[in-house]
Amino acid sequence: AKTWILAKHFDGFPKDSDFELKVEELPAPRDGEVLLEALFLSVDPYMRPYSKLRMSEGDVMIGSQVAKVIQSKNPAFPVGSHVVGQCGWRSHTVCDGKDLVPIMPGWPQDVSLSLALGAIGMPGLTALYGIEEVLGLQKGETLLVNAAAGAVGSVVGQLAKIKGCKVVGSAGSDTKVAFLKELGFDEAFNYKTVGSLEEALKKASPDGYDCFFENVGGPFSSVAIQQMKNFGRIAVCGSISTYNDTTPQTGPFPQLTMILKQLKMEGFMQSRWEHKHPESLKRLMGWFKEGKLQCREHITRGFEKMPAAFMGILQGENIGKAVVAA
Ligand code: NDP
Repeated sequence: AKTWILAKHFDGFPKDSDFELKVEELPAPRDGEVLLEALFLSVDPYMRPYSKLRMSEGDVMIGSQVAKVIQSKNPAFPVGSHVVGQCGWRSHTVCDGKDLVPIMPGWPQDVSLSLALGAIGMPGLTALYGIEEVLGLQKGETLLVNAAAGAVGSVVGQLAKIKGCKVVGSAGSDTKVAFLKELGFDEAFNYKTVGSLEEALKKASPDGYDCFFENVGGPFSSVAIQQMKNFGRIAVCGSISTYNDTTPQTGPFPQLTMILKQLKMEGFMQSRWEHKHPESLKRLMGWFKEGKLQCREHITRGFEKMPAAFMGILQGENIGKAVVAA
């Protein structure tokens, strides 16, 4: 079995030498346990802040994966079945099944199981809860989303279109902007080349924004908040532009705008609505089957490339969900 370890805490942007690949012999599963083989592993932005807050040097990198049960002494997980597990960056895992969720019943044969890590998994759920539970997005409203071509953002935009909204997205390359247009975004722009972000936001929606699905943080956030309509709502999902900072950002935060426009801003984590996951995954799969939800993936092949794939998302290499095929 192969495992990626956090050899050294990240200092700024992660480096190859911060990771170490270990090879180990696994024990045979005991009663109640299973042996899993990873098929697809997720790399996600949250791993960067999480490593600092919750991990020690020498720990296995955390993360979820789609795995196949290859030996089983747990009747809940028969050999040959597939699960989503919080196993970390491991090619093989022996575990008791506590952190495993069987792949949704009725998963279509011709649909890649990797989508269970993306649009029909955690990022898709994040998009759905941000829109429905946090923003309460209504038909006819205008929504702004940044990191829009990524795993969460691309689903946010499509769900907002399903709900009959105007959608504006920003992303970091012209190829990504073209992709957003393909997905049905009404307006999209490349925030790296646009010049004035303020002007770009005004041009895309002269009347301002009812809702802002915030994935990026930093200066983008301050500028976007100024473009909200009165009583606008902001769902703070992520802050990826700050994850590699060595000193915390201190602002300026547009407090006066928040007051004068009477804005509402709420941070959230998708896990708050865990009780709704099974039903929500069915809804996401339903939209996918109807052709209303496109699920783009950025697949890296080879377990050895986990660190490269992870660093890739922090540099914006991915369009859609970044996944490693073991
Ligand atoms: P993505 O698939 O969107 O990948 C990350 C993208 O972020 C990159 O492709 C890049 O796109 C953009 N990015 C990277 N660095 C920067 C930077 N310095 N400034 C601006 N943009 C940057 O990731 P996810 O969809 O998985 O996650 C999106 C956000 O949602 C993250 O902030 C993540 O932490 C958060 N999240 C929160 C959850 C929650 O429960 N609250 C759950 C899941 C994710 P580009 O080329 O456009 O810059």
